Amino acid sequence: MRATNGWGFLLFSLAVFSAALLRAYFADALPIGVLAAFSYFFFLAALVFSARFGRLNIFYALLFAWAIGALLTSDLSADDVNRDQADLLRLAAWYLIPINFAVFAWLEERSFLSVHSLVRAVLIVSQMGAVLFIADSLYLDTARSALTYELFNAPDFLSPIPQTSLLFVAFAAISLGAKIITKTQKTLEIAFLFALIGSLFALFVYPDAIGQFVFLLSSSLIVSAGFMHLAYSLAYYDELTGVLGRRALNEGMAKLSGRYAIAMIDIDHFKRFNDEHGHNVGDQALKMIAAKLALIRGGGIVYRYGGEEFCVIFGGKDKREAQQYLEETRKAIEDSPFVKRSPSRPKKTAKTHNRVRRSEVAYETIPITISIGVADSDSGLNQNETLRAADRALYRAKENGRNRVVLQGK
Ligand code: GH3
Ligand code: MG
Ligand code: MG
Repeated sequence: MRATNGWGFLLFSLAVFSAALLRAYFADALPIGVLAAFSYFFFLAALVFSARFGRLNIFYALLFAWAIGALLTSDLSADDVNRDQADLLRLAAWYLIPINFAVFAWLEERSFLSVHSLVRAVLIVSQMGAVLFIADSLYLDTARSALTYELFNAPDFLSPIPQTSLLFVAFAAISLGAKIITKTQKTLEIAFLFALIGSLFALFVYPDAIGQFVFLLSSSLIVSAGFMHLAYSLAYYDELTGVLGRRALNEGMAKLSGRYAIAMIDIDHFKRFNDEHGHNVGDQALKMIAAKLALIRGGGIVYRYGGEEFCVIFGGKDKREAQQYLEETRKAIEDSPFVKRSPSRPKKTAKTHNRVRRSEVAYETIPITISIGVADSDSGLNQNETLRAADRALYRAKENGRNRVVLQGK
């Protein structure tokens, strides 16, 4: 089993967002007061999560989108001057929201109590201030015509969207999409994308207050759930290898009953591997081994026990049944050596050589093997005793020459 990297969370986000779309465009089943209360509850939750997880970019992006929405639904349009300001802000928001989200998505995370944080706060406030100022100045008409420049003949229902802003929206979507695709743990990036989409939809349906709240609610809910999803995977999955970690192992062990087998796995001569190739290459090898282990058949669940040691639990199986699957995996790892790109060779020239030469020179293959000890509950041992028995069997596997599976008591 590998880490929950966020693709499942994408389905969740799509479901929440589809519900929001339905809610915004049909029926008024929910009183607006209730809707507003829920929206603010989850909006605050999203802000608190962002602060606690040290993600000030999400924090400020959410705050920015909310502040624009709040200004637009406030009494801004009470008199003529203010109505101009509201109209210009609404146009400018189509540009500012995607630009700010795209920038925030890529800015390095910094501490909340730092000058970087202050700079972000000043930037978002001054952008809104600048728009309100321009709307009240001689440049109002120039700004309005620049923002509404027409590129093509749009159908009527798209008329609230200034056409050139679509270029910025597309840019932001591509920028966030690239992040989602390139990151292994993509939950927050997905939530960030939906916060952007939600903000744009809220702008699109303005001045409908229900629409505003529905999209504030769905974006805040998705971001809050994103943080909970992240907290879950941080708690249960090992960050380096993506397999389950020690906490999950302890809980999994406590739940075991009936027949089960536990295997302890240790990489052979890994200290030497690190010494020869460096700790970073060692980490890459560890990831590769974990990925191979995770493919084990027979229902074995793989955990990183610590360091370069792993543990596999087979519910409902005895040590002999487990042995065949462990043997298969041990063999698979022996048969596929770790491939290291030779640092002495520049990446560029690798392309100019043919494949044979490339595999000889540009890549170094390093054999790597694991030793395994396996024990089961049949001898009346409890979970911890079974694990210790597996560890003793592992010790014998090392003594007997490594790269082998040894059964308890043999
Ligand atoms: P043996 O075959 O007897 O297991 O020999 P060994 O060198 O693997 O011995 P041991 O298991 O005691 O060594 C563990 C080494 O694994 C020590 C440390 O350098 C390395 N190691 C542990 N955790 C990590 C890690 O997260 N990353 C890297 N790169 N190395 C690790
Ligand atoms: Mg070890
Ligand atoms: Mg070892």
